Amino acid sequence: MPELPEVETIRRRLAPVVEGTTIEAAEIVDPRLTRPVDPVLVADALVGERIVSLDRRGKYLLWRLESGRTLVVHLRMTGSLRHAPGGELPEDAYRRATLALDTGASVGYRDVRRFGTWELLDQGHLRPYLETRLGPEPLAPSFTAMRLATLAAGRKAPVKAFLLDQRRVAGIGNIYADEALWRAQIHPLRPAGELDRAEIARLHRALRASLNKGIELQGSTLRDYVTPEGDGGGMQHEFHVYGRLGEPCDRCGRPIERIVVAGRGTWLCPHCQRP
Ligand SMILES: [Zn+2]
Repeated sequence: MPELPEVETIRRRLAPVVEGTTIEAAEIVDPRLTRPVDPVLVADALVGERIVSLDRRGKYLLWRLESGRTLVVHLRMTGSLRHAPGGELPEDAYRRATLALDTGASVGYRDVRRFGTWELLDQGHLRPYLETRLGPEPLAPSFTAMRLATLAAGRKAPVKAFLLDQRRVAGIGNIYADEALWRAQIHPLRPAGELDRAEIARLHRALRASLNKGIELQGSTLRDYVTPEGDGGGMQHEFHVYGRLGEPCDRCGRPIERIVVAGRGTWLCPHCQRP
């Protein structure tokens, strides 16, 4: 599933080609994308809108429109966006939606498993929508170690589950949670509220380092994620633990193990990350 670095990579690639353009035509062919709203109503509402900016919050892409409305896109498991500068998108049986821009370019939305969502929110609805779903942005300057300590205080959940909860910290999923915990040398089952000050400081640094590395390498391509140009990311070659069962730890050389935390496969070095 695309996490913060993958969604941020898509945003950075798409923003320069969609910002300031006007949507000339919109087609949404999968009703699951917009349900319970009729996809034809959403597509009709998008036509004629100028895209003021393309922003990101957590794993959401925010298409801010001139009318004050925002198209909120979540890629979920297998969603991806494809940009065709000349308007000619490749044939694709999994394309669920297409936007044609006044520059002649097209943006296609592809989703094999169809869990992705497109929601068109009226002015004033975006803020409450995001506030009920998302904690702070981990790469924002205001996200300090002190802030992380406050968020974790009193939490009995395993730190891995705490990191995956979008209402605590936004944008982190299974990959970057495991990578950050390995960097911080913290066992994923440790209760979040029991981490001491030094561990919180390490986790704070590790989260930022893992996420920034992911952005620098344009995300991780395991199955479906590609950039809007159709390229894969490079982060999957740099994983320290994720998916590396039995391979040697990059720090101590002992084999990586896999456990299940909060129902998710979790990779760790049992030597570097003591319970
Ligand atoms: Zn190790």
